[in-house]
Amino acid sequence: MFFIELEPVFNNEGFSRSVDFTLDMSDCYFNGGFPFKDSVRISGEVKNSTDIVSLVASADFTLNLTCDRCAADFSRTFSIPLEHVLVTELNDDDNDDFIVIDSFHYDVEPLVREDILLSLPMKVLCREDCVGICHRCGKDLNDGPCDCGREYDPRWDALQQLLEDDR
Ligand SMILES: [Zn+2]
Ligand SMILES: [Zn+2]
Repeated sequence: MFFIELEPVFNNEGFSRSVDFTLDMSDCYFNGGFPFKDSVRISGEVKNSTDIVSLVASADFTLNLTCDRCAADFSRTFSIPLEHVLVTELNDDDNDDFIVIDSFHYDVEPLVREDILLSLPMKVLCREDCVGICHRCGKDLNDGPCDCGREYDPRWDALQQLLEDDR
């Protein structure tokens, strides 16, 4: 939990308050394991500019991941922007862009946690052009072609891509 006292922010145009804390997400299951090793660092501020109160921060963290295509282990650093407008009530209830706060003594952790989970990639690749492993002999094709190469038909790649995109 990380509570911010929002009353002075809401009541004073131009006022800001820094938001700086660490978040333990080691219980978060993703990519076949628990990739958050170190805690997530949240840094930014809540500010009131022209009577609009917004949270602007970034979440910085490193994940230990396994490539979905070639199964290599690697770690990657993420920096996720967090940006929300906070309101005490909605005038127009079909606007999802605003976060309605339930109290001026506001716990920002659930919101930040959700942002981080939503930012995680659908598919984890060690690098964008990872070619994966040969489905016949199991060789990591990132290290070069295998001996099955001569019978290789690029149409299988297109089919494989369709199957992967479908997941
Ligand atoms: Zn890979
Ligand atoms: Zn092969």
